[in-house]
Amino acid sequence: MRQSQERANVLMNSSLIGINVIEGEQMVDANDTFLRMTGYTREDLRAGCLNWVHMTAPEDLARARQAHQDLATQQAITYEKEYVCKDGSRLPVLVCGVVLTPHPFQGIAFVLDNTARQELERRKDDFLSMASHELKTPLTSLKLQLQLLGKHLARQGISDAAPALSRMEVQVKQMERLIRELLDVSKIQAGRLEYARETVNLDALLQEVAETMQQMSATHTIVVGGATSGSLSGDKDRLEQVFINLLSNAITYAPDASLIEVEVSRSVETVTIGVRDHGMGIPKEEREKIFERFYRGFDPSKRAVPGLGMGLYIAAEIIKQHGGTIMVESEVGKGSTFHVTFPLKRDACEAYKRKKKNL
Ligand code: ADP
Repeated sequence: MRQSQERANVLMNSSLIGINVIEGEQMVDANDTFLRMTGYTREDLRAGCLNWVHMTAPEDLARARQAHQDLATQQAITYEKEYVCKDGSRLPVLVCGVVLTPHPFQGIAFVLDNTARQELERRKDDFLSMASHELKTPLTSLKLQLQLLGKHLARQGISDAAPALSRMEVQVKQMERLIRELLDVSKIQAGRLEYARETVNLDALLQEVAETMQQMSATHTIVVGGATSGSLSGDKDRLEQVFINLLSNAITYAPDASLIEVEVSRSVETVTIGVRDHGMGIPKEEREKIFERFYRGFDPSKRAVPGLGMGLYIAAEIIKQHGGTIMVESEVGKGSTFHVTFPLKRDACEAYKRKKKNL
């Protein structure tokens, strides 16, 4: 008994991790580290002033309550939130909650100060935003100079340099795309990616994107099947970006299978676009991760493809902002289908319902 009490004391007095014990909403015990982190005293604790609901930043309360509910079925839950300290300042923390008894609720929270990590994240985001801006300017100038040089040489009738110049232009375009994606990612992080709201004819948009991508690829055949006969409310350019990315991935990650199918199907209120390739496929354990920022597949043959793992992250964000969803079905060695679903504009749904009735 004494030994286990001593062990518990050593744990409780850890100077790295804050620990508190909760009964209902009340904190009934806490170690010195937790009190120091949040600015409360042991007298405050004894007087019952520490209530985890009041101490949780209002915008994090729903997530914290959810974690408490999840503890009914799971032994431990780890999540991030901010505490409101005694002096009103905020403390970002990583919490690991462990349940002792579910009814009435008794649990222990292990709390790690997350300030340094968040500061590092913020600095990384600032750096990305700065770097992409800084890279964009010289690249724009380089592109312009290349075009001028091309025209100059053509006027003088010098054609030897043309192949080299066009290879340089391809590389510049590739860099432009990466920098544009970097800028988009940092705007998404800062919540500054803006969207136009216009009526978008999805059939026309898909046709246009498929034709553009077809012109750029001599190796693959893109076939569009089905039609929505409906429109979306959204940002045409951003939606184009989504399908350019999906098609460009389909081309890239299916180097030996030339057929790419775009299939459109609709229900009364939604439209689903499937982009199918017959290429490398995506292992099960990667199918969720590929939508995360900067995630790239492990497969070395995929890694050899230039890219920074931003395309699907940006696409998923754009789709989300249009009220839609994206998911992938895949089989390694057989290919992948990305399914994108959007809600249609109300008038398009009404027209569809009328048409179905009349049939
Ligand atoms: P990038 O292509 O620059 O790596 P993306 O965000 O577009 O970035 O894709 C993330 C990862 O998802 C890729 O690195 C690749 O491993 C995987 N992936 C995406 N599309 C496909 C596809 N059609 N087939 C197989 N793997 C894919």
